Amino acid sequence: MSDCLFCKIAAGEIPSTKVYEDEICYAFKDIAPQAPVHFLVVPKEHIRSVSEITGANSSIVGHIFEVIAKLAEEQGLGSYRVVSNVGEQAGQSVFHLHFHVLSGRDMTWPPG
Ligand code: AMP
Repeated sequence: MSDCLFCKIAAGEIPSTKVYEDEICYAFKDIAPQAPVHFLVVPKEHIRSVSEITGANSSIVGHIFEVIAKLAEEQGLGSYRVVSNVGEQAGQSVFHLHFHVLSGRDMTWPPG
């Protein structure tokens, strides 16, 4: 989508600190990290949020979770949290599907 921040980051049109890339997804460091490790994994295809995942695109999400598991293992993340906010009330500020991967500090549950 032409005016989407994460489409532009995934396409390399806006700079980011790349963590991983393949033909399906792009991972990069969050600009305002909430933990010692905080990166985002986004599909290259524009999907607005988890609420737009269907049978037609769910294989992308499966792939993203494989990538998250691989990156976590490579980075030695023994314990980590994967979060995807859906809608403004839940804290979504960028309306392109993304999974936060957070690690490196104690985390509370339930979230605030
Ligand atoms: P959310 O609030 O769940 O939609 O998450 C959006 C995330 O994107 C936030 O954690 C922001 O800090 C992060 N973010 C916004 N702009 C950028 C950017 N240009 N590069 C990296 N991360 C960003």
